[in-house]
Amino acid sequence: DTALVWFRNDLRLADHRPLTEALQEARHVLCVFVLDRKAGGAWALGGASLWWLHHSLAALAEAIGKAGGTLILREGDAAKIIPALASEAGAASVHCGRSHEPVLRELDRRVEKALAQHDIAFRSHRVSTLFELDTIRTQTGKVYGVYTPFARTCRGLPDPEPPLPPVKQLHAPDGKFASDRLEDWHLLPTRPDWAGGLRDAWNPGEAGAHARMQRFLADHLDDYGDSRNIPGNEDGTSMLSPHLRWGELSPVQVWHAAREANGQGRARKGSTGRSGFDTFQGEILWHEFAAYLLHHNPAMPDEPLRPAYNRLRWRHDPRGLQAWQRGQTGVPIVDAGMRQLWHIGWMHNRVRMITASLLTKHLLVSWQEGEAWFWDTLVDGDLATNSASWQWVAGTGTDSQPFFRIFNPVTQGRKFDPDGAYVRRWVPELQRLGDRWLHEPWEAPEAELERAGIRLGDHYPRPVISLTEGRDRALAAFRNEVRAA
Ligand code: FAD
Repeated sequence: DTALVWFRNDLRLADHRPLTEALQEARHVLCVFVLDRKAGGAWALGGASLWWLHHSLAALAEAIGKAGGTLILREGDAAKIIPALASEAGAASVHCGRSHEPVLRELDRRVEKALAQHDIAFRSHRVSTLFELDTIRTQTGKVYGVYTPFARTCRGLPDPEPPLPPVKQLHAPDGKFASDRLEDWHLLPTRPDWAGGLRDAWNPGEAGAHARMQRFLADHLDDYGDSRNIPGNEDGTSMLSPHLRWGELSPVQVWHAAREANGQGRARKGSTGRSGFDTFQGEILWHEFAAYLLHHNPAMPDEPLRPAYNRLRWRHDPRGLQAWQRGQTGVPIVDAGMRQLWHIGWMHNRVRMITASLLTKHLLVSWQEGEAWFWDTLVDGDLATNSASWQWVAGTGTDSQPFFRIFNPVTQGRKFDPDGAYVRRWVPELQRLGDRWLHEPWEAPEAELERAGIRLGDHYPRPVISLTEGRDRALAAFRNEVRAA
């Protein structure tokens, strides 16, 4: 009467179907997490992800301990470790969350095969999406490639079932199962310890996730439609993305909690004509759509969804790439975003689009270079959303801004950071420059710069690329290499 529950990107006890079903089947449950640093190849976990994972695992182990169980930690190839542990524990079944990530899907196949040799059942359950991704099809049975009709279809489906209650009581099987010590995995940075900003900004783990969700839904959901585009407003968005990425919360929980909060008679419409709730649901559906795209296009992290873009000759520009990564491009809104990313492992969505556009269009550096940097530095680095979003901005996806639509970072800065709160917070050298010039200091009269104590090229860089030239070069490349072919 033992079952094994294999935790992966679902580090929670509530709305956890693998755990709930294991408990219905067996009295004893062995909880396991396996770290495989090499799995994923180029997409092995990045530095910021490892930081988050450490803290999230510590929180999960504590919660499992409080419920009476233990979390066994092992490092290595899960396809060997899981079957070995399951047979050691005499388990009749192994339960885990289903993933849309190619590496995990392949791993599932290997684990299932190995378990079958021991007559142990393998059961995977939906944990990280609202719907079963295979069931969503167009009327002619095709896979969606465009968000809007996909989202319309999702909204027309019956709501996902309400979340399962948290598991409160667990019995570990008899016997002693060897476990690594989390500290011995050394997932946290030491020399240098770059995680100070992360520690200040986040509270990884299921409890922290719920606290953040409750606060956002109670106080900020109504205004979401208007405030979600203002990066200087720190309460404008939920900042739930890393919690969702690690499965400390499920989209189902967020979906239902938002509906409940909205049901409390506060469904005000913003200037967009939609309620904050409606807009928020739309973003959760973007998350769903990214998972759906990866599920149906396993090469999405590496290859453009539109093959024509394989012809585009991206530039090799180590200097430009480095200036971008370090927040030293001389374009204030871009530098603010890249520094926010470095500092807290997260960047506002509007600014992710602006920074990604500068890299892939003005600098004409491939989206995969940007994707890899985000992957390493984001605490919410998610294979599906990251690759789908990069392809969206680069214009290489099926559902994209066309390539020739190029974000102008100055116009974007003026529109979405009109009082400069965001730029001044992350690029303090520009603190004293007036609003008029803040988003394009290279145009400022010498006297203005002097008054603000800035010497361009000294205290703050001159732009790494002329915005007009960069734009023209991108358009020409698109015309000559992609469209002409
Ligand atoms: P909110 O505005 O509060 O939205 C709630 C939730 O909806 C988010 O937590 C997220 O799960 C989902 N969501 C919101 N916006 C989007 C979006 N545009 N696409 C898909 N889902 C969305 N998000 C990631 O979670 N991981 C990534 O690796 C990632 N990489 C990105 C790379 C680029 C180039 C761009 C343009 C966007 C990327 N995003 C990524 C999407 C988006 O920027 C973040 O999900 C969002 O900023 C998270 O902040 P939030 O939780 O406050 O979002």
